[in-house]
Amino acid sequence: MDADIADQMIETLARFVDQDVLPQVREFELDDLYPDAMVDQMRDFGLFGATIPETFGGLGLDVSTYARVIEELYRGWMSLSGVINSHLIAAQLINGFGTEEQKARWLPAMAAGSLRGCFSLSEPDSGSDAAALRCKARRDGDEWIINGTKMWVTNGERAGIIALLARTSDEPGAAGISCFLVEKTPGPRGDGGLTISKHIDKLGYRGLETVEMSYVDHRIPNSALLGGDAGLGQGFRWALTALELGRINVAARGVGVAQAAFDAALSYAQQREAFGKPIAQHQAIGFKLAEMATKLHAARLMVRDAASRVDAGQRADMEAGMAKLFASETAAELALEAMRIHGGNGFTTEYSVERLYRDAPLMIIGEGTSEIQKLVISRAILARAAAKQ
Ligand SMILES: Cc1cc2nc3c(=O)[nH]c(=O)nc-3n(C[C@H](O)[C@H](O)[C@H](O)COP(=O)(O)OP(=O)(O)OC[C@H]3O[C@@H](n4cnc5c(N)ncnc54)[C@H](O)[C@@H]3O)c2cc1C
Repeated sequence: MDADIADQMIETLARFVDQDVLPQVREFELDDLYPDAMVDQMRDFGLFGATIPETFGGLGLDVSTYARVIEELYRGWMSLSGVINSHLIAAQLINGFGTEEQKARWLPAMAAGSLRGCFSLSEPDSGSDAAALRCKARRDGDEWIINGTKMWVTNGERAGIIALLARTSDEPGAAGISCFLVEKTPGPRGDGGLTISKHIDKLGYRGLETVEMSYVDHRIPNSALLGGDAGLGQGFRWALTALELGRINVAARGVGVAQAAFDAALSYAQQREAFGKPIAQHQAIGFKLAEMATKLHAARLMVRDAASRVDAGQRADMEAGMAKLFASETAAELALEAMRIHGGNGFTTEYSVERLYRDAPLMIIGEGTSEIQKLVISRAILARAAAKQ
């Protein structure tokens, strides 16, 4: 994307965050209210089509610009980026691997934000070990019959289409898994044999819904199989590809939260006085700010490097994993440091740092925990070393 247009877009988002998000976030977050008006504005900005190609009505942002968008949204409220993350993972799957008919049918409405998507891989008994999933899809003539329970479906209630990973053969592991595009009526109930069986009450990442979904003999048409018959057994591999975008999203969220924590800490440290001077002038606090700023800068550079590699069509599994690991751990660390700098005030709901402290841990869990990122990184190091020999 043209650098000037990208800069203008980020400036517009920064104004939105400052004027329409930050003044209201506390009320929405504490009461766990869905931010309809903020989401409407995001739709008007075209963000539901952020990474969907222009041919389908999207903005067609490159990953580098997308990462900056996420960073900016997260400076305001982490939940806002969650609204588009799994929607765009679903769109990425359709755009990357769907049939021409599936792309034409779903992507324009998803880009316009009139149809919302979600991504459903995790189950009660499989998260990190995602290929151990048990949800089953059995073919019956022109239909598939789905049975199983899916956990942690973010945006599951408001979504009209679910990118669902289910087992289509008895082959163990990834080989037996396919991806389906399951249509549903947006709302709290579900459709046919599909029900929203639980709303999960969360420590942070509040305001948007994360639900459990149950499928009991739920029938969907053959046309719902992503990629048509060629998609049989490909779903898991395709989902991992789409999750690379998700990983960069989470890493960029980490930078956004870390920036918000740093901004709050700096401002407070300049105003709050102790022992006759602003606490920022006590070396212990000044050094904290220095370390926070350094880690924030490093996290941002890592995210931008991983994003630019993806844009250049280079392999970026290791770099995206490193960026996700470092940025999410930095966000959690800076949120706690910002709370320390706020003293007792940091422990109250009057200041934003308690929210950042509750939001930050999700990033060390979602899209692969820190331990799983280390597995991804160490495997990539060894594979690249072997390739050189
Ligand atoms: C708020 C929220 C929203 C989410 N949204 C979605 C969504 O929209 N769609 C979706 O599909 N999923 C979603 N998830 C699920 C998320 O991706 C999983 O929670 C995550 O992958 C971890 O899986 P788990 O919770 O089952 O933990 P587990 O896999 O049970 O892991 C527990 C612990 O064991 C460690 N561990 C596991 N395996 C290893 C290993 N081999 N080596 C070392 N350590 C290991 C983990 O790092 C972790 O510390 C969401 C989760 C949350 C909390």
